[in-house]
Amino acid sequence: MSAPVTPGPVTWTPEDTEAVGCCLCGVPGRLVHDLSPFGVVRCPSCGLVFVSPRLRPEALQRLYDDVGYFEGGVYGSAVDGAAQEPRRFDPAMLLQRTWTAGRLTLLDRVRGRAAGGRLLEVGAGYGLFLDAARRAGWRTSGVELSRTGAKHATEVLGLDVFCGQLAEAPLEPGFDVVCAWDTVEHVPDPLDFWRTARSLVADDGVVLFSTPYVSSLPARLLGTRWWTLKPAEHIWHFTPRTHAMLLARAGFALTRVVRSPLAPSNAGRLDSLVGVARPVPLA
Ligand SMILES: [Zn+2]
Repeated sequence: MSAPVTPGPVTWTPEDTEAVGCCLCGVPGRLVHDLSPFGVVRCPSCGLVFVSPRLRPEALQRLYDDVGYFEGGVYGSAVDGAAQEPRRFDPAMLLQRTWTAGRLTLLDRVRGRAAGGRLLEVGAGYGLFLDAARRAGWRTSGVELSRTGAKHATEVLGLDVFCGQLAEAPLEPGFDVVCAWDTVEHVPDPLDFWRTARSLVADDGVVLFSTPYVSSLPARLLGTRWWTLKPAEHIWHFTPRTHAMLLARAGFALTRVVRSPLAPSNAGRLDSLVGVARPVPLA
């Protein structure tokens, strides 16, 4: 469970925001939570929950380049802000290691064979998962929007990580595995994101991802106090149903959902799930 920390600049103004429609239906959503200057809305047509108004792309880039982003957000306090080094024995780092090991095991299980082949991670952060995947026998590539994260992954860990959006990355298609841990809720257009992933994964490949879900107990019970709501950065809120719809539109079938906080791949996470999707053969 991550702490309810709001990283980055403390205040956003309406000038930093823009209104968007549902990525599946193109229509404006109806207000669920007013978090001015942001709004959490639900699509009246498909039920997808998203943030509108939300940060403009330039403001988002400022947020992800902020050194404090990983420190307060995705990695808990696991990354030392001054030294830019993950701390080895921090509790948040231990959780990261549990997820990483659990996800690599899950990957082998869903594929029915041992590690080996090409693996792409989108939203690679500091490269901790990619580093472990490489040690497990994968040939790895990564994409990371944060310059701070990408710099650590490439310069300290020696990983192949492109800094920028997935669509801009110069990647050779045919990946055996595409992973996206806590990433799809951040991207400007999730349909576009999964379609790009579909173009990169082999027809017999597999996609693994994690994401918070808005039908989780904490999300439903806590309303605006849900610690994962964070409207500056979490701009899409899926349920297993809306995510299955989204993936289907992108050419994937959602084949497995791990919701238990006891599963190592999702350890301690009451409001997040791990999903497995497979490409649907093109007709
Ligand atoms: Zn919709």
